[in-house]
Amino acid sequence: MQTASAPSDPLLSELRSIVGSAAVIADGDRSKYLVDARGWFSGAALAVVLPKTVEEVAAVVKLAAREGLKVIPQGGNTSMVYSSVPDDADCAIVVNLSRMNRIREIDREASVAVVDAGCVLASLHDAAAEVDRAFPLHLGSEGSAQIGGLAGANAGGTGALRYGNMRDLTLGLEVVLPNGEILSDLNGLRKDNRGYNLNHLFIGAEGTLGIITGAALKLVPQNRTNAAAFVALESPQAALELLGRVQDRFGTSVNAYELLSGNQIALCEEFTEAASPFETQPDWAVLIEISDPAPDAPLKDRLENLLGEEFEAGRLIDAVIAQNGAQSAAFWHLRHAVTEANVRAGYSTTLDASVRVSQVPEFITRCSEMMRAEFPGVHPLVVCHMGDGNVHFIALFRADEDEGADRQAVINRIQELGNGLTVEIGGSFSAEHGIGRKLTGELERLTDPARYATLKAVKMLFDPNGMMNPGVIFPEPGQA
Ligand SMILES: Cc1cc2nc3c(=O)[nH]c(=O)nc-3n(C[C@H](O)[C@H](O)[C@H](O)COP(=O)(O)OP(=O)(O)OC[C@H]3O[C@@H](n4cnc5c(N)ncnc54)[C@H](O)[C@@H]3O)c2cc1C
Repeated sequence: MQTASAPSDPLLSELRSIVGSAAVIADGDRSKYLVDARGWFSGAALAVVLPKTVEEVAAVVKLAAREGLKVIPQGGNTSMVYSSVPDDADCAIVVNLSRMNRIREIDREASVAVVDAGCVLASLHDAAAEVDRAFPLHLGSEGSAQIGGLAGANAGGTGALRYGNMRDLTLGLEVVLPNGEILSDLNGLRKDNRGYNLNHLFIGAEGTLGIITGAALKLVPQNRTNAAAFVALESPQAALELLGRVQDRFGTSVNAYELLSGNQIALCEEFTEAASPFETQPDWAVLIEISDPAPDAPLKDRLENLLGEEFEAGRLIDAVIAQNGAQSAAFWHLRHAVTEANVRAGYSTTLDASVRVSQVPEFITRCSEMMRAEFPGVHPLVVCHMGDGNVHFIALFRADEDEGADRQAVINRIQELGNGLTVEIGGSFSAEHGIGRKLTGELERLTDPARYATLKAVKMLFDPNGMMNPGVIFPEPGQA
C-alpha cells in the first residue's frame, strides 16, 4: 500500500488517467481549494481532483480506498464551519465537483429538476426561470455554492420560512459511497416509502458518508408579484408580534422575515457600500418580503395597509416600502452585506442557534447580557432568520478597539457560553451551517449520549475506515 505522506508519481498518474491531466492539481497555488471561505482555516492535500462524471468520481473513490487516502468532498468552498477543506496532515485528496455542473433535466409539468452536484445555485435559478419555475433556496453565497455542498450542509437561507431547507427541497440523490459503489435515486418521486429514507442521511452529512454527484430537486411556481419593506421596531419582541400579524394577513406568501440589529445595519453602512433605508437608525429592523405567483396580486397595497395600521397603533417606529425592484434589491444588498462588513470591522464569532420562534426575543436578550457581562468590549450583533427561529448572534470585537486579547480563547469562550444557553432553552447550536471542524467539541459536549452514539454508528456503517472528510462532525484523535 502507498504511504499517504509521499505521493508517488504512479498515484498521480493513476488519478490523471481517470480524470485527465488538467483535472489533477498537485502543485502551484491551490489556496482556492485549501483555505476556507473566510481565510481562517487552511490545510494541505496530495492533490485536488476535479472529476466530470459520476463514473470518474467512483473510480477516484475506489483508488482512494485502495491506497488509504482521505477524501474531502468539496463544492464552492463557502462553508462557515471549515468543513470543505482538509487538515494539514497532507494525506488527503480534495474531490472538487465544479466541473460536474450540468443541468441534466428540467421537467416543468412535474416541477422537478435533476442536476449534477457541481451545479452552482445561481445557475439553477436561471435554468428554472427559463421554464417559468423557481428553485426557492436563496442565500448570500448563491453565486458560488453548489447543489452538492448545499445538500452536504443542509443549507437554509432566507426563504426557509416558506419553502424549508435543502432537505425539504430534495426529492432524491445520486451518491458515490466510500467503497466506490453508486447509489442512485433520481426519479423525482414525491412519495416513496421503500424502507428508510437514505437521502436524508446524506443531506447534512457534510461529506462524511459519501460524495453526492447528482440531485433531483423540487421546483415551485415563479412568483410574479413581490412586495418588500424594511420596518423599524423597538425590540425583538415587537418583531415577533408583528411576524404573527404579517402571517395572519399573508399566510404562506411570506417569503422572508429577517431581523437585524441596528448596530449591524450601522456596521454595513460604515464598512460597505450598502445603505440603510432609515433616516434615523433604529435599534431593530425587519426586512419583510411577500410574494405570489399571481401577476396582479395587490401585495404592495396590502402590505402598505397593514404597516399603516401598525404605525397608527404605535407598534412600529418607521417603515420603508420598496417602490420598485431596484429598491427591493437595495434592501437585500444591505441584508447580504453583513458578512463583508463584519470581516472588515474586526474579528467576530457567530452563533448559529435554532430556537422556537417564540423564544427568539428571550434568547437574544439573555445572550447579549451574558456576553456583555464577561466581555465588556463586545459588540453583540444580530442577524436572524426570525421566521424560522434561526438566530445568528455575532460577537464582534472592533479592530480599532483591539485590546490585544487572546482571540482564540475569547472565541472559544463565547461559543461555549452561547451554545450552552441555546441548549439550555431547548434549542440547537447548529441550525443551518453544520458542525464541520468548528463545532466537533461542542457536538460531543452538548449532545446526549444516546444521540451521539447513534450518530457515530451511522458513520461507522457507511465509512468504517473513516476515509470521508475525517475531522468533520467527529474529531480526529488529537484534533484541536
Ligand atoms: C456569504 C455567505 C452567506 C451564507 N449564507 C448562508 C445562509 O444564509 N444559510 C445557510 O444555510 N448557509 C449559508 N452560508 C454557508 C453555506 O453552508 C454554504 O454557502 C453552502 O451550503 C455550501 O455550499 P458549497 O458548495 O460552497 O459547499 P462547500 O463549502 O464546498 O461544502 C460544504 C460541506 O458539504 C460537503 N460537500 C460539498 N460538496 C459535496 C458533495 N458533492 N457531496 C457530499 N458532500 C459535499 C463538504 O465536504 C462540506 O462538508 C453562507 C456562506 C457564505 C460565504
